Amino acid sequence: MEEVPDATYERWLGGVGLGSTILYREVGPEIGWDHPDNRVILASGPLAGTRLSGSGVLAAVTRGPMTGGACSTQANGFYGAYLKTQGYDAVVIQGQSPEAVYLLVHEGGKAELRSAQHLLGLDTWELGERLKAELNLKTASIFGIGPAGENRVRFAALVGDKGHVAAHNGVGAVLGAKRLKAIVVARGPGRPRVHNEAELDRARKALSDHSKSREFGVRMQAYGTASSVLTHYRAGSLPIRNLTTNILPEAENLSGQRMRQTPALKLKPQPCWACNLRHHCQTVTVLEGPNAGFEGEEPEFEAMTGMGSALGITDTVAAVVLANVVDRMGMDINETAWSVGFAIECLSEGILSRQDVDGLDLGWGKPEAARQLIERIACREGIGDLLADGVKEAAKRIGGRALELAVFTEKGNSPRGHDHRAVWAELLDTCVSNTGTIEATGGYMDFSLLGLPPRKDAFDAVETAFYNAKMNGYRQFQDSLGCCRFCVDHPPLMVDALNAITGWSWSFGDAMAMGRRVVHQLRAFNFRSGITAEGERPSRRYGSVPVDGPAKGAHFTADWPRVLATYYEGMGWDPASGKPLPETLRALGQDELIPVFWSS
Ligand code: SF4
Repeated sequence: MEEVPDATYERWLGGVGLGSTILYREVGPEIGWDHPDNRVILASGPLAGTRLSGSGVLAAVTRGPMTGGACSTQANGFYGAYLKTQGYDAVVIQGQSPEAVYLLVHEGGKAELRSAQHLLGLDTWELGERLKAELNLKTASIFGIGPAGENRVRFAALVGDKGHVAAHNGVGAVLGAKRLKAIVVARGPGRPRVHNEAELDRARKALSDHSKSREFGVRMQAYGTASSVLTHYRAGSLPIRNLTTNILPEAENLSGQRMRQTPALKLKPQPCWACNLRHHCQTVTVLEGPNAGFEGEEPEFEAMTGMGSALGITDTVAAVVLANVVDRMGMDINETAWSVGFAIECLSEGILSRQDVDGLDLGWGKPEAARQLIERIACREGIGDLLADGVKEAAKRIGGRALELAVFTEKGNSPRGHDHRAVWAELLDTCVSNTGTIEATGGYMDFSLLGLPPRKDAFDAVETAFYNAKMNGYRQFQDSLGCCRFCVDHPPLMVDALNAITGWSWSFGDAMAMGRRVVHQLRAFNFRSGITAEGERPSRRYGSVPVDGPAKGAHFTADWPRVLATYYEGMGWDPASGKPLPETLRALGQDELIPVFWSS
């Protein structure tokens, strides 16, 4: 057990902040993602385990296989809250077990590694059920890997607490390489320390009112995140058939509204720790048809689009089931969707033959064949083995025209489940991020807090780059707190809650500076591993121009060098190389990173 100095918390908080500093300190550039010395930091944060809504978040930080660089990915649920009750802020996984094990944290902080040989091959849903029964635990957080993680599929995820997924940059593959099948944290007797309960309660109520009353919160409580399917369709940002079109008249079938109107589906609320948006997360049971009896979680927006529109599937129940198959196998749904869509298009374009795809009846709108392919990927069987290293690697291995169809960034990660050709802020963020997923965008931002007017034109490339740069840091601050983004997304109130818990006097400026430090630390981690601005661009298809639909003709990448230069400059980085300037690092108190970027 290691005591973390107060100064470390004051500089890095928890979550990705704490994780990034441990990663930077302990994982040198020579340590690859599957090396035993790679670390997986599973952290809570300073807000964790309090009565703040959704304060049970798990933040996972490691070196991930998709980019070979830093990975920061979050899952909601109970982990962060229960870890606090056992007296810990974070667990750091290192080494490699000769055989499969799981970690059990229980009995007031006792940590044990136990054999998981009998759990091998279980999917993530079965794993949770089995461990809960076996350990006779009524209240425990259980996260683990499925067959994909065991087989080191590069986009394997960490899944737990009935459907929560730390999805990005292959954290599940790293755990598979360590042969750690699961992490179980029982609820303990401890309580988090709070400096000023009355102040925390005031901030909690205000945050709760904000999250429940804003338009997004109202809609999400009623219909989940998939409530925005039609909004995205009308904006041209629904991903359809591997970005070959933006027309899908049946798109509404994939919405949260339609899920609730479908008699074959039964939904039941399954909220996370202390959550006040109680109807967001739900379990789902299929009541009729060939999948009757299937149980899972209500898919989020990206799961419904990934297993729906991206594959040309518009059958509501089929998309729900497929999304859960991906979670059960333990894979990132976005990369899975781009991989399956890529294979379908390669087959229809004659780039792959029927024999190449193991005779599968792949095509747009064919859920059964998609399911067979997903299971092959998870087990690295046949064509699945080719796709199990991600779209970029598969396209490179096939070569030729395949590279023109694949959706990825040159760094190796792929976009979330949107068509970013109509969401320019996220396209840029996906390309320049240091985490293997978006870093700055994705959610609410009040630009007046940064002294800026609201954005004028979401299709102005330079304005997009400027605003992305100005807001970067906020999400890293948020992901260092240990709370669900949906519940806690009002910057000044978040700072109030932090101050109430710690007794500090942070301002929003302090929070932004802390978040910017995380960005720079992760960029330095990547840079010293050979990951430079060279890879900060989209693949040809990802950066292409929509041929139809509402965003037809919109061309974000027309002057990509100018977009990048604007972004780098806004970050205080060298506009040509994307390296943070010495004065930028000095202003944030990160002088130690200057030689990393500027020694030669
Ligand atoms: S909003 Fe949803 S994901 Fe967030 S804490 Fe509540 S139930 Fe969990």
